[in-house]
Amino acid sequence: MTSNSLPNVADAVIIGGGVIGCAIQYHLAQLGIPNTVLLERDVIASGSTGRSQAICRMHYSNRVTTQLAWQSLQVFADFDARVGGTSGFVRTGYLVVVDEVDRGGLERNVAMHQELGVPTSVVSQDDLTRLAPMVALYDDERAAWEPNSGYADPYQVTVSYAARSREAGAIIASRNPASGIDTASDRVQGVFTAAGERIATDTVIVAAGPWSKRVLADVGVDVPLLPVRHQVATVARPVELVPQHPTVGDISQSFSFRPDGTNFTTMGFGDDEEQPDPEEYPQGIDLQSAASARAKLARRVPGMSDSYYRGGWSGLFTTTPDWHPILDSVPGVDGLFCAVGFSGHGFKLSPAIGKAVAELVAEGKARDVDLSPLRFSRFAEDDLMESSYRYRVLA
Ligand SMILES: Cc1cc2nc3c(=O)[nH]c(=O)nc-3n(C[C@H](O)[C@H](O)[C@H](O)COP(=O)(O)OP(=O)(O)OC[C@H]3O[C@@H](n4cnc5c(N)ncnc54)[C@H](O)[C@@H]3O)c2cc1C
Repeated sequence: MTSNSLPNVADAVIIGGGVIGCAIQYHLAQLGIPNTVLLERDVIASGSTGRSQAICRMHYSNRVTTQLAWQSLQVFADFDARVGGTSGFVRTGYLVVVDEVDRGGLERNVAMHQELGVPTSVVSQDDLTRLAPMVALYDDERAAWEPNSGYADPYQVTVSYAARSREAGAIIASRNPASGIDTASDRVQGVFTAAGERIATDTVIVAAGPWSKRVLADVGVDVPLLPVRHQVATVARPVELVPQHPTVGDISQSFSFRPDGTNFTTMGFGDDEEQPDPEEYPQGIDLQSAASARAKLARRVPGMSDSYYRGGWSGLFTTTPDWHPILDSVPGVDGLFCAVGFSGHGFKLSPAIGKAVAELVAEGKARDVDLSPLRFSRFAEDDLMESSYRYRVLA
């Protein structure tokens, strides 16, 4: 053991203690590999994870992300039995709303989701009057409904994975940044910590969220990741007018909202074009953007025109050119893996990603899902994932 109880050697080192790193470490332990160390520069869930709006829905334009989201939703809904702990999952139903130009994409996506066994359907105005009478749908708009979707609690999920990993014997070192990956002859040899220690290992998994580009650049790997600031604002809901509402992906107006407990609603909006520095970016919200989001909310749920603004925060999406993650071994460095670039999707996918990436590391291949569409080389090969929609967060 090193001075602060880190082992000198580990079967794998995970860099980053967000929901992704913690889910991967947990699943490695489940596969019989508990001798791992997770290094976290700050504290668990303090990166994008702790700032997530945590919406869980399956509506995507491609099969692999839909499958990962559907597998994950079933874990969130039964978290205590499957993992142990609470996920804070609240089933609200999820409505995705598009205007005429996106109608074909919506219908194609719903057909693909149904083929994959996801409970979902295109809904008419009459259906909506029954399912969500507080929501206004305009003449040129179409909608689809997922009855099982909702939102969960990213902090609870992450600490639950971490607690289960520790029980299995894995080590989580908070306030202990990785300062470099030791490689020789194009192979991982170990990880250096900022405290000056070295853990010998032949396997490193980079799950460092918005910091991943820097971590990989240190070993000469250029990965196309771009942090994008996304804002979340909370309003108090006039509960006598709007006692409840579903979670809504409002592609028509380029924003999303969901209930937050019994009398609040959170709205997600405003993907800035500039490139924020993960160490230093405005963590509050822009009042003008929040006012514009609230106007959109009142248009979609007219009773919400009596809501009032309570506050908000910003966080970083780590985007790739197609807004989908990279889940792969890193070409050119044996033993190096990455689970990065989750944009606005990483939380809802985390249980299935944790399992699939642990299997990729331990067995060379994920068991239940084909991860090849999310391979590292797709950008160089110009074989990007496609979205049916202009609002990229919905991808
Ligand atoms: C405002 C906002 C709203 C969102 N809404 C949703 C949503 O509704 N639904 C959804 O599914 N997803 C949503 N997301 C996306 C989701 O939250 C992220 O994709 C997910 O949390 C990413 O998890 P992660 O573990 O990859 O990254 P992070 O949570 O950022 O974790 C990375 C960790 O790595 C650590 N780290 C960095 N460098 C080092 C180092 N050198 N050594 C050790 N540790 C290091 C960091 O401190 C951090 O804790 C949202 C994100 C934001 C910001």
